[in-house]
Amino acid sequence: MNNEHRTIEQSTRQYSHSQELINNLPYGAMIVLGTAVLFLSIPSALSRWVAAVVYLIYGVAGIFWIIVFLCPFCRYYDTRSCPCGYGQIAARLCRRKNPKLSMADCFDEKFKRHIPVIVPLWFIPVVVGVIALIGAFSVRLLVLLIVFAVDAFVLLPLLSTKHSCKECPQRDTCPWMKGFHRAVSPTGV
Ligand code: SF4
Repeated sequence: MNNEHRTIEQSTRQYSHSQELINNLPYGAMIVLGTAVLFLSIPSALSRWVAAVVYLIYGVAGIFWIIVFLCPFCRYYDTRSCPCGYGQIAARLCRRKNPKLSMADCFDEKFKRHIPVIVPLWFIPVVVGVIALIGAFSVRLLVLLIVFAVDAFVLLPLLSTKHSCKECPQRDTCPWMKGFHRAVSPTGV
């Protein structure tokens, strides 16, 4: 960790491993619930296993996509001020990138480019689950779909904006705060 990272840590909140774990729970729950929704929605035994496993792998790969392609441009890279701990994992996997633009502008550009890669994780279970419910109604699937929606569209954005994003110095320019968050959060919080 260099002097710049120490200064950032001293001027911002630092997260313990247990706090990082808690902050990762809504995303982890979304992936598990989304996998279960796909599994229950698809009638064919082989197809349901393939869809569930692919979604699960996509969810895990999405984490590493962010760690590799976004975190090296974030001011919380290699600090304990990253709310979910990805910034420290990124420091072990890849070097800090030297942006041509200012750090904030560069982060903004990388955010817009890479966040759409993981956005389908929010919508695939909803689309597949609703189509399955229309075809053959199931109380079990409906309940699972509602729990998924509450976690993905309410809890996850709520945790981001009320907790980690609230403390982020990039919040005024962040596309999550301006666009994506509103798109996935029906509460508009
Ligand atoms: S705050 Fe976000 S972009 Fe920054 S290091 Fe943490 S996970 Fe990566």
